[in-house]
Amino acid sequence: MTARRDTQSQTGEVVTRFAPSPTGALHAGHAVAAIAAHDRARTAGGRFLLRIEDIDTGRSRPEHVAGVLRDLEWLGLAWDGEVVFQSQRMARYADALDRLRVAGLVYPCFCTRADIARELAASASAPHGVDGAVYPGTCRAIPPEVAAARLGEPHAWRIDMARAVALAGPLTWTDELAGTVVADPLAQGDVVLARKDAGTSYHLAVTVDDAAQGVTHVVRGLDLFAATHIHRLLQALLDLPVPVWRHHPLLLGPDGQRLAKRNGAPTLAALRDGGVDGRAFADDLRAGRLPIGFALASA
Ligand code: GLU
Repeated sequence: MTARRDTQSQTGEVVTRFAPSPTGALHAGHAVAAIAAHDRARTAGGRFLLRIEDIDTGRSRPEHVAGVLRDLEWLGLAWDGEVVFQSQRMARYADALDRLRVAGLVYPCFCTRADIARELAASASAPHGVDGAVYPGTCRAIPPEVAAARLGEPHAWRIDMARAVALAGPLTWTDELAGTVVADPLAQGDVVLARKDAGTSYHLAVTVDDAAQGVTHVVRGLDLFAATHIHRLLQALLDLPVPVWRHHPLLLGPDGQRLAKRNGAPTLAALRDGGVDGRAFADDLRAGRLPIGFALASA
């Protein structure tokens, strides 16, 4: 990893990526993210990568992967190199998890969603993090020998956040728009690093892959700002190079909400099929010429 870090600083090449999950069709909010990452690399003469985040095999669909490729071409956003699929990289995530397991920084969690909901309902406060309600820590209390004997049962792996933070010490990260940020992963609680059904989680896979692909600038929406506290910690624990981040404002629809399938955001495919010129549409988004009622919001 040290060699990679040296290479990056020697060449100074900017490498960004667009990393959609193929669980639905892309909409204009995705276009904003893809354009931000693409343009950050291209204006610096750097490389723009495409990674398909398909660890959720139950919800990922080949037709959505095909849609991503078509949408990017329509927008005039060319990516460099081969498309990387996370579903083909599970062994890397398992290795990273193993390292954390050997270091005593993760524990198996046997809770069902219902168990967690019951536990939270009984507690006075239920703080929220990037993954929703912060896990109350139930399975952290299981003695290791008891947990080891139960590993035949379905289980996730969670980070022991307090222990990990104590080991890593104080951390900061740099956002091109927000400046220097003091990492606060503790507020996120014991997040899942390997899901019961997937063997990894978004947090672990994205951190491992951004390092493996030599991403120097993680350009993504502000909705993932809080996730960066976790990713910065994982980089420290796994001795991975530390990129710069750029969390861009989100596109809000006429209801004032972030665009999403659930609030009826038109898909890029629908715009394309309706005869909209994708490159002109991308230029409109770049210039802030948004459809009526839409807004870019920083918070
Ligand atoms: N796969 C994530 C998503 O579709 C984005 C990951 C990232 O940019 O870090 O929301």
